[in-house]
Order: sequence, then C-alpha cells, then structure tokens
Amino acid sequence: MGTAFKLFTVSGIAIRMHITFPLILIWAAIQFGLLAGTGWVGAWFGVIVVTLLFVIVTLHELGHSYAALFYGVPVKQIVLLPIGGVAQLKEIPENPTQEFVIAIAGPAVNFGLAIILGLIAWAFNIAILNPIDVLEGLERITFTQIFTYVFIYNIFLALFNLLPAFPMDGGRVLRALLATRLEYSRATSISASVGRGMAWLLGLWGFLGGGFFLIIIAFFIYIGASQEEAQVKTRSLLRGYTVADAYSRQARTLPPESTLGDAIQLTLTSLQACFPVCDGQRLVGMLTYPRLVESLNKYDVNTPIADVMLRDVEAVAPDDDLFAVQAKLQTSQLDTLPVMDNGRFLGIITSRDINEIYRLLSIDPDIITMRRRNWDADNRFDAF
Ligand SMILES: [Zn+2]
Repeated sequence: MGTAFKLFTVSGIAIRMHITFPLILIWAAIQFGLLAGTGWVGAWFGVIVVTLLFVIVTLHELGHSYAALFYGVPVKQIVLLPIGGVAQLKEIPENPTQEFVIAIAGPAVNFGLAIILGLIAWAFNIAILNPIDVLEGLERITFTQIFTYVFIYNIFLALFNLLPAFPMDGGRVLRALLATRLEYSRATSISASVGRGMAWLLGLWGFLGGGFFLIIIAFFIYIGASQEEAQVKTRSLLRGYTVADAYSRQARTLPPESTLGDAIQLTLTSLQACFPVCDGQRLVGMLTYPRLVESLNKYDVNTPIADVMLRDVEAVAPDDDLFAVQAKLQTSQLDTLPVMDNGRFLGIITSRDINEIYRLLSIDPDIITMRRRNWDADNRFDAF
C-alpha cells in the first residue's frame, strides 16, 4: 500500500498508518470539543482517547497476526485506517478451526484487556464512570476519565467485531462454525447473506438517527460481504485449473533493440498493449502500456525499448495455480504476466484470460475439461 507509511515493526510485522489516518484525530477533536460543547479541553480529550483507541486496535490486530503466525500463515502488514485497522494475511485458511482461532484472537485480546483493566480498577479503587457524564462536565482531563474510555473501548471493540458480518471477525467466526458442517462455499454464502442483512439494519439505524458513521460502516460491511463471497466463488471455480488452461500462446514480443516507434506500431496493429521483451527465447523485461505512454512524454520515438522497459518482472509457470496468479496480477498492479517454462518464453497471461475462463466455468465446469486434451495436442506443435 503506497499511501501508508511505516510506524514500527513488531515480530517482523510492519505496522503502517494510512495517509488519511489523521482525519480521525481531527474528527475526534471536533466531535469531543466542538459538538459536545466542551471547547479545547474536550478537543484534547478526544485526540487522546482516540489515539489510545487505535493503540487498542493495533493490539487487536496483533492478536489476529500472532494467531496466524502460529498456524504458519504469513502476515504482510497491519494498516491503520480512519475506520479501523486491518491485519493483512497472505491467505485466510480454509480450515475452519484455524480460521475460527485467527478470527476470535482479535476480540479475545480486547476481552482480555477489559478483564485486566477491570481488575486494576477494582484493586486500586478506580471508579468506572458513565462516558456520557464524563463528556458533559469536562473541565479538566483526569486519569479516571481516560481509564473509563479505554475500558469501554475494549468492550465495544470486542462486541462490535463479533457482529456476524464480513469483513468483521464475527463473520469469519460464523463461516468457520458453519463450515464444520457445510461445504465451504455454502458456509460463505450464508455468512455473506447474514452480513448483508446486518449492513441493511445498521444503515437503517444510521438513517434513523444513529449517525453518519454507522452508514459508512454499513456500506463497508455490505461491500465486504459481497467481495468475500465473490472471492470464495472464484477460488472454488478456478480450483484445479492452471496457467496452461488459460494463457495466450500467440503473444507478440519485442526485441530489446526495437524502438518506442516499433512498440506504438505493434500496439496499434495487434490485440496486445503490453509486450514481453525477449532476447531470443530469454525474457529480459516488459513494456507495459502505461510505461510506453510515460516514456513517450520524456523520450523520442527512436529510443530503444531496453532503456525504458520494466526489469525484474516476475514470470509465472504453466502449472501455476490460476487463482494464485490472479492474486499476483492484482498485487503486482500489472495487467499482464509472462509465462515461462524453464527459462523458455511461452506466452502471456492477463486478467482478461482469467475472467474468460471464470465466466465459462460459471456456465458449465465441464466445458474446459472437455477442451483440455485438444489443447495439450496443440501445444506439442506450438511454434514457441
Ligand atoms: Zn479483528
């Protein structure tokens, strides 16, 4: 995520703050100070408790992350956004027990903290106040007030995240529980429907006076539920299919000594807009369409491709899993990846190729299997 910068690293996990994150602190100052009528004291109070809220959110995400690492699932990073935190895992395990433990670990951290804070309050006689009373008579900031908010935030985070709606933890918990008895995609569909129902209720509550924030959260839940369902459907449809089933054999390539002018010519006269750059059978780079346009703004048409092409492009192999390649296309932000077999260039695979096979499989999974044998035969006479 290029729009987030790193704060620090814990156990190899980078904690990043999204560029829009400070918005929530401004919101807190306005909400607690201006709207609550408590002036600067309230504004400062808001900034302090919301900052602490995000410390708690980070601990919550670390709960998910350590549980994931326990099962050997790599954690890419934790990103803090104005609406909450996200622990980005390399993959969500389909094993219901693992998904259940990873999902529940976040709220468990908050419940744990709430119990510890409750015991501290009991041992040291700290009064847990009513948060609304705190705001009404706010003339100076005290430890007890902040303690109250931190305590309540933990309980709120645990309960809120356990709402049975994707992308909340409760949605994953629900799916994991259903998946112990039902097929994984069926369990996902049911959880996604529950999530969408939940989103409608939250949105309605927001419209009826619950506030704008609820409407935004309802919107994210609705989108999150649908995305999760679509992703699981894609994965189950593409299971067992590889790059060899979908890649384009008749890909046009450019030699490194060709020019930007040659690339324009080829772009206009072929179906492709992204070209692997090959020195004989060896792949040396890629010229993407955005890179071509960018280069034409800086250099003249006689510039050799070798000077402007992308280097270190990750290639995929014919027996690579299609779903994994789709994820790779998304994260690399390239529309096309070269297909290589033992150093030999075979062709290209694009998001469009994967969408095509996905559409066909949605109609009838047997369409592709029937064609497979013929493709293998074609391949033997392939020119590449
Ligand atoms: Zn969580």
